[in-house]
Amino acid sequence: MPSVETVQGAVEADELGLVLVHEHVRFRDEAVAIEWPARYDEQLELDAALVAVNDAKDRGVQTIVDPTAMFGGRDVRFMKRVAEETGVRIVACTGIYSYDYLPHYFENRDVDVMADHFVEDIERGIQGTSIKAAFLKCAADAAGVTEHVEKIHRACARASLQTGAPIMAHSMPAVGTGPRQVEIFKEEGVDPAKIQIAHCGDSDDVEYIQALIDEGVYVGLDRYGLEMYLPIEKRNEVAAELLRRGHAERLMVSQDFCASIDWFPAEAAEVFEANGAIRNWSMTLVFDEVVPALRELGVMDDAVFDTIFTQNPKRWLTA
Ligand SMILES: [Zn+2]
Repeated sequence: MPSVETVQGAVEADELGLVLVHEHVRFRDEAVAIEWPARYDEQLELDAALVAVNDAKDRGVQTIVDPTAMFGGRDVRFMKRVAEETGVRIVACTGIYSYDYLPHYFENRDVDVMADHFVEDIERGIQGTSIKAAFLKCAADAAGVTEHVEKIHRACARASLQTGAPIMAHSMPAVGTGPRQVEIFKEEGVDPAKIQIAHCGDSDDVEYIQALIDEGVYVGLDRYGLEMYLPIEKRNEVAAELLRRGHAERLMVSQDFCASIDWFPAEAAEVFEANGAIRNWSMTLVFDEVVPALRELGVMDDAVFDTIFTQNPKRWLTA
């Protein structure tokens, strides 16, 4: 039985149970948080994380995959606290979440050195702990696959080849980053069964998503509630069509919820809810609204539910 690293230690893959494959227990800029710590309320952040994760636990969630990497304020001690206080397992990653910027530190070192940093997190432990990363994270967004973004992707690929760890790549369908991201991983020799292209569900272009699935990768329909990219109803139409085409085994459904996020001033959440930029964004939306809607559409039964929320994350994490 293969095992998977979590912030509570390695568990047998079968113990992961019901999984939310893309949620953040906290998301913040680590540089700002270190320079101006008084601007952050750690207790409030912890409380928000506990509420979000406990709500998910109420819906049966046993494991949360948290792809918070460098520049997202990755903090495995915080994750461990949330995991221990809720009893929900959290799976941590290594990698760099950047749309282009790279510190001079990595700019002036080659891709293999960058990969070594990731391998260390996977084999030895993260941030001086014995908590190991279970997967790799990188990103491409509006700027496209820039030189720096490509370097991070290749470093993730090489660390994956060395360790066997799978990869999750943030993508931006609006500028079509997915195919090039997959191409880079394949050039490096990564098995597509280890690759998850996140945020494909921000697009209602089913053929764009189909083309990625044809490459053999997993696609994330993982931003439910972020209406600014695509409303829930449209997301469901895309999900339903992909399920009708028989792709249940390639879909990752989640919310990319951030229990707290410092990107905007605190009052922004209410504004976004009021102007429709977000709607019921949470760690429970997919269970409360999406699964019932997909059942209503006749494309989800218990077997499909099990495939998407239990089998797919397990298969990807142990590929
Ligand atoms: Zn995310």
